Amino acid sequence: MEFVVFISGLAIGSFLNVLIFRLPEGKSILGLSRCLRCHRSIAWHDNIPVVSFFLLRGRCRNCRAKISLQYPLVELLTGFLFLFSFLVYGQSPFFLIYVLFLISLFIVIAVIDLKHFLILDSLVLTGFLVSLLYFLLSTFYLLSALYGLLFFGGILLFLFLISKGRWLGLGDVKFAALLGFIFGLNNSINVFFYTFFIGFIIAIILLGLKKADLKTEIPLGLVMAVASILYLFLNFSFLDLIDRELIWRLWLS
Ligand SMILES: [Zn+2]
Repeated sequence: MEFVVFISGLAIGSFLNVLIFRLPEGKSILGLSRCLRCHRSIAWHDNIPVVSFFLLRGRCRNCRAKISLQYPLVELLTGFLFLFSFLVYGQSPFFLIYVLFLISLFIVIAVIDLKHFLILDSLVLTGFLVSLLYFLLSTFYLLSALYGLLFFGGILLFLFLISKGRWLGLGDVKFAALLGFIFGLNNSINVFFYTFFIGFIIAIILLGLKKADLKTEIPLGLVMAVASILYLFLNFSFLDLIDRELIWRLWLS
């Protein structure tokens, strides 16, 4: 079963690459993949996740143009994160499906933000709709989600306003609101601290490698996505949410 999950992750990762390339350019996500240089459509046997990249040695079969290393990296990342999700959350299939959706969404948002400093409204909106649907089907979570939204979105909106948009963009504010909504109040406080910590580590590494100076901007959406994925695996407790919601219900009744 683990192997099937990993292979599915590679295949989904291949689709995420399509989203990452086409969504920022407003292109249709349907239709065949084409070489970016010679525009020849790519045959199915040259489009197998990870494997084809290595068989073709990272070049287009037709024009020998280099294929971005992003393709196999995103595919492998998705494969491994799907596998971890299955190992951690495999006992509750319904939640697992939701986690796999979140992971896919976070990967697409992170890589697009890394490449373009951009967080697309359509992705954030999709996250809200799917999460809302999930909460409605699992009922106990909505109030905490709204508090989380106000907390995480509120803090970043505050930072956006006092810096007049120099520290972060409105896309970051919307993404933070989504994360608060997804994780609920208590968890999103933790994700907030993870974000700071990871941003700090990335900054130190980049400064150490002299890839950056103090003026370099780090895409905040990427950092928040990494923080969220780590948090899902390291600390996330679904029981927390259920307990708190029970407390609220008792309090309200
Ligand atoms: Zn080509």
